[in-house]
Amino acid sequence: MWTSTLFAATLAVSQGQAVRLEVAHEPALESAVAVWGEHSVPFVRRGERWVTAIGVDLDAAPGTHEAGVVLTFADGREEHRSYTLDVRAVAFPTTELTVEPRYVELSPEDQARADRESREIASIYATLTPEAYWSEPFIVPIPGTTGGRNFGHRRIFNGQPRAPHSGADLRAATGTPVLASNRGRVVLAKELFFSGNAVFIDHGLGVYSAYLHLSEIHVEPGQIVERGQVVGLSGATGRVTGPHLHWGARILDARVDPFSLLGLEPEGDE
Ligand SMILES: [Zn+2]
Repeated sequence: MWTSTLFAATLAVSQGQAVRLEVAHEPALESAVAVWGEHSVPFVRRGERWVTAIGVDLDAAPGTHEAGVVLTFADGREEHRSYTLDVRAVAFPTTELTVEPRYVELSPEDQARADRESREIASIYATLTPEAYWSEPFIVPIPGTTGGRNFGHRRIFNGQPRAPHSGADLRAATGTPVLASNRGRVVLAKELFFSGNAVFIDHGLGVYSAYLHLSEIHVEPGQIVERGQVVGLSGATGRVTGPHLHWGARILDARVDPFSLLGLEPEGDE
């Protein structure tokens, strides 16, 4: 699912997709920045290439969108280029779910807590770490598991419409080890109202992954985790219908299918 290209190209992408952008190195090129919507994100150098990531939100308008690139050279010269992203609409299905009533009709205390946590999460996703902690491909946090193809589903809880599903639900019995999808810094590791026991990892360049409904948390905020390190055990905490791992991903605050992270770094890249 990953996409890379030379310049002046049109990239065919889908709603909810992680997109790799790449620029070939050239003499005296000192930095490169991608401009995507309201966001700017640096490229990082990988040998003879400069790479970064942007996300197409699951509700991005179908049609063409421009992603700008600004290159800065040693003599101060700037060069502006752009990609055209042709965003295809995805027909996300609607799912009806039944959960404990307290997760649908919130008490005033629970509502206040959910609002506070939602602001805390928004401020995490609004933070851009201008370096990449990762250099290898992303992995699925429960290797060999099935399921997880429910990203973007429109959801109705106990008969009431709620936000679309911004992750992938992987089948897992309670107690299954959950692995960090890639190297990064733990930025949240605690119990949340809707998400239950949750771990959020900042991978840098605006890329985040989240692991929700855990039975146990095995990491602490501030800690650097390696790709494949156990961050906790799967469970059924928070708003769930049963045990599973909710694996979520954001890029520059865009909600993307975590499976699309797998292509951000091609296997065997230097
Ligand atoms: Zn989920």
